Amino acid sequence: MLKYCSIGSGSSGNCHFVSYKDTNILIDAGLSGKRITGGLSDINADLDKIKGIFITHEHSDHIKGAGILSRKLDVPIFANVKTWCAMKDKLGNIKEENMKVFENDKTYSIGDLGIKPFSIPHDSSDAVGYNLFSDKEKISIATDIGCITDNIRENVYNSKLVVLESNYDPNMLMMGSYTYSLKRRVMSDCGHLSNEEAAKFCVDLVNQGTESILLAHLSKENNFPDLAFATSKNVLASNEMIIGKNLNLEVLSRDEVSKIYSL
Ligand SMILES: [Zn+2]
Ligand SMILES: [Zn+2]
Repeated sequence: MLKYCSIGSGSSGNCHFVSYKDTNILIDAGLSGKRITGGLSDINADLDKIKGIFITHEHSDHIKGAGILSRKLDVPIFANVKTWCAMKDKLGNIKEENMKVFENDKTYSIGDLGIKPFSIPHDSSDAVGYNLFSDKEKISIATDIGCITDNIRENVYNSKLVVLESNYDPNMLMMGSYTYSLKRRVMSDCGHLSNEEAAKFCVDLVNQGTESILLAHLSKENNFPDLAFATSKNVLASNEMIIGKNLNLEVLSRDEVSKIYSL
């Protein structure tokens, strides 16, 4: 079975665990090494079976613990060239053989698992989302998205489970303490996805076969889990899509390890 678990997700740190047969991987390692290994032992994940850490982009909430974990577990870090250039100095010493480069929008296999990094618009060097494949099913992870592009739709549609950014409430952002330029950056097409934008995309996802949507990467300053959930729930309901009947909708916690989703 293809399994997914969030070790933590939010604007201050992200780490996803994906497992299929004998292959375990991490997508991003933006929490402390201690929190990640603690979270993995909470779910009894076999650290020896971790085959790699796949990075979405070089922002610290995605790479904070990557160097430490690569050294501690002796596992490779995978990223595209531009992301490697932008993050290399922040990771500390990484063994040459643990520095792996991929190209966006190509499918690779690692052990039993298929993995495809796909390009997304974000204000970093060359950010990606990920598709993860078992023999039968597909999971997608798409956070830190400025806007929903055709490439994102093409990749994410038909995924049974989608981890989707629902970063901010526009009113909270406008009224909040961020500088004007930071507010504009968050709202731009290379910034983050608002609750409303995520909600609209949820409708498209359900129409394209998604059964489970996990709202992720919520802003600490500009969002509340209940608000992100209610915004998507309402937009789905106005499209006659009922949670518990047509789909499963949940919000991932910034601090707590999620349950394990199996498909
Ligand atoms: Zn980012
Ligand atoms: Zn981020």
